[in-house]
Amino acid sequence: MVTAHPDDVDFGSAGSIAAFTSAGVDVTYCIVTNGDAGGSDRAMPRTDMASLRQDEQRAAAAVVGVSDVRFLGHPDGMVQATPELRRDISRVIRQVRPERVVTQSPERNWDFIFASHPDHMAAGEAAVCAVYPDARNPFAHPELLDDEGLEPWSVSELWIMAPREQGATIAVDTTATVARKVAALMCHKSQLGDPDAIAERVLAMARAQGEVAGLPEGASAELFRVTRIP
Ligand SMILES: [Zn+2]
Repeated sequence: MVTAHPDDVDFGSAGSIAAFTSAGVDVTYCIVTNGDAGGSDRAMPRTDMASLRQDEQRAAAAVVGVSDVRFLGHPDGMVQATPELRRDISRVIRQVRPERVVTQSPERNWDFIFASHPDHMAAGEAAVCAVYPDARNPFAHPELLDDEGLEPWSVSELWIMAPREQGATIAVDTTATVARKVAALMCHKSQLGDPDAIAERVLAMARAQGEVAGLPEGASAELFRVTRIP
């Protein structure tokens, strides 16, 4: 799971992550920033915000069965799909050797601008580039192989967190896990202005996506666009 900020994974995919871990799948979070530009408390030193948000993300991960949470420490608000970020994500891919990488859409969503924070698009673009070609190419970022001994790794499934308008191809039924998604979100206390309103909005969105997916009334879902890579 590659996202820009602490809390992105929980808004977008925590219901699916809970379903995956319940099925015995090991999940690693790779968070590009520490979220130090988040929150609204101007009195809090930004370094304190960074460590607070790391703690919140680790707590949220635990709620959905994830204990491996890695932060790349790129500057919040300034993420770009640089060769350095592609290398840093490729390093984690080669270390973890996942079958599936889930990340944010590199494309702007004109219907919901908050989903298209520039950091999200940049993190998504860098993750896609890390999946193909960087992580599988022994000659990309040669220091990973030469200095760190990290063999190339080919990821076979790329999942983009995406609504139907952006070409979603798979819905994960989160009816059984949406409550854990909300509980995970509630761990991001520094980011929640009105927790009840956010919980309600997330539940409504989950049911709307369930409807889009053609699930029975009242069911919840999360949508993804899946690309299989030979
Ligand atoms: Zn974000």
